[in-house]
Amino acid sequence: MLDYRRFKEINDLFAAGQTVKARRLLMEQQSKSIALQDENDMLHVRLKTYEDILQVARNLCNERGFYWLKTDGVKQGPFCPRCYELEGGLIRLERRRKDLICPCCGAVYALPAPPEVARPEGHRAKIIPFRQVAAARA
Ligand SMILES: [Zn+2]
Repeated sequence: MLDYRRFKEINDLFAAGQTVKARRLLMEQQSKSIALQDENDMLHVRLKTYEDILQVARNLCNERGFYWLKTDGVKQGPFCPRCYELEGGLIRLERRRKDLICPCCGAVYALPAPPEVARPEGHRAKIIPFRQVAAARA
């Protein structure tokens, strides 16, 4: 932390003609300032990393055993549940025939069954009685 009273002390030393001592204190302050700027830059990077992690956590969901990332209305994935739960890594699963495989840990998962869509009453497909129509034509 910079001690701002030092700048007054340095100014007083210059005013009193003690330039060697004033320059030494000024160089110390410069060194502390550079170290403080470096620490500030490092803390900015850490903060950005935590903000990114928080953003991912807010947009991550688990559906049917797989992790999915929803960003800007687009659902991406599925991501390997093992890699995410063990190391926090979001590794997209690759489709291989009837399986999904993780290119990182090699875990193999069965393809999830498609979700059942609940259809409201009145929206069912019309069933055409084929036998009656075929019989009427004969
Ligand atoms: Zn994995």
